[in-house]
Amino acid sequence: PTQTQIGLMSHEELRSEHERQSEKYAQLKTEKLTLDLTRGKPSPEQLDLSQELLSLPGSEYRDGNGLDCRNYGGLTGLPELRAVFGELLGIPTENLLAGNNASLEIMHDVIVFSLLHGTPDSPRPWSQEPKIKFLCPSPGYDRHFAITESYGIEMIPVPMRHDGPDVHLIARLVAEDPQIKGLWAVPTYANPTGAVFSEEVVRALASMPTAAPDFRLFWDNAYAVHPLVEEFEAPLDVLGMAAEAGHPNRPFVFASTSKITFAGAGVSFVGGSTQNLAWYQQHLGKKSIGPDKVNQLRHLKFFKDADGVRAHMAKHREILAPKFALVLQILEDRLGASKVASWTEPKGGYFISLDVVEGTAKRVIGLAKEAGIALTAAGSAFPYGTDPEDRNIRLAPSFPSTDDLAKAMDGVATCVLLAATEKALGDA
Ligand code: PMP
Repeated sequence: PTQTQIGLMSHEELRSEHERQSEKYAQLKTEKLTLDLTRGKPSPEQLDLSQELLSLPGSEYRDGNGLDCRNYGGLTGLPELRAVFGELLGIPTENLLAGNNASLEIMHDVIVFSLLHGTPDSPRPWSQEPKIKFLCPSPGYDRHFAITESYGIEMIPVPMRHDGPDVHLIARLVAEDPQIKGLWAVPTYANPTGAVFSEEVVRALASMPTAAPDFRLFWDNAYAVHPLVEEFEAPLDVLGMAAEAGHPNRPFVFASTSKITFAGAGVSFVGGSTQNLAWYQQHLGKKSIGPDKVNQLRHLKFFKDADGVRAHMAKHREILAPKFALVLQILEDRLGASKVASWTEPKGGYFISLDVVEGTAKRVIGLAKEAGIALTAAGSAFPYGTDPEDRNIRLAPSFPSTDDLAKAMDGVATCVLLAATEKALGDA
């Protein structure tokens, strides 16, 4: 039968649609699948693109400045590699440091240093304030929220839109409340909606007056060079805009090669004002004598320059774009006409954000689990793991093979329809 909108069905039609989806679901369970759409991991095929890294830097161990990368020191990271990624991120080399394998670790450090020592603009360490709060554009990245939650920082959800978070609401909140010390942001191909912040949104965030003198943007540009289309997004100069508005220390920019080379053995970056980077290094210098410069040298030899990175990202795109297209096609074919779901169509990044009938996301994820399809836990894209409308599901198409992905998505669509008809019958 041709699909119709579930909301327009009579009780009889609903019952037969429910029966149809129940049968499909029973069939799905007999397939005994074990598929995983939970995390945005690169596939083995993508990791193979960087296989040459394993034989670099060969017997060479000096960078272009003659530094012996095998030894201690060099807390800032290799200048040549910082220049390559500075060009890609739109940040001057002197405002960008290169570190070890995880940008998440730097974000965590910046928060802990702020709690224990305060930032250069803080009247006292954050931990000595009676209460501090972070703004959390949602849906957002669960590991960001996990850091702030683990330190007892109150998280305030802010709606995400196609061009970034709701800046009118944000500007009002930060103007009034000096306890709001930070905002999590993924400005390019956001996790999980794929939103790209517009220039107006970035400028508003960089320039808005804040009651806290030490308010910080945690600007996680994890997907800056990860388009699924041919054109790269020009990086927006958040550091420049903030400096121009008189808030040079407001942004901390983060990035890494986790989804460029090896997710577990890449290079991370942190960008900021001269004062912020001096502050960060002052505290970093107590926990490390220097980063893994051999890995940085390996990455430098592998890419050579920014164009090398862009050419490499085109190879990732060739692998990833068909997977995203497949997911979108299955969503459209199975759910398009019945109007029980909506989803994002990202131009880059690693995720598709699927919104199902309100009150059914948990049920869909539970049904999928029972059928052997693992989806990211319900609510995980929201602070405290609580999706107030119980409707959001993050889909991560990168890791499975195309065949597995098709099976998994067809199964997910069945679960969405089954949950929607259950709900409609229950409501009727
Ligand atoms: N930020 C975002 C927005 C991410 O999606 C991810 C990986 N899923 C990370 C950071 C992790 O970065 P890293 O591997 O550099 O710690």
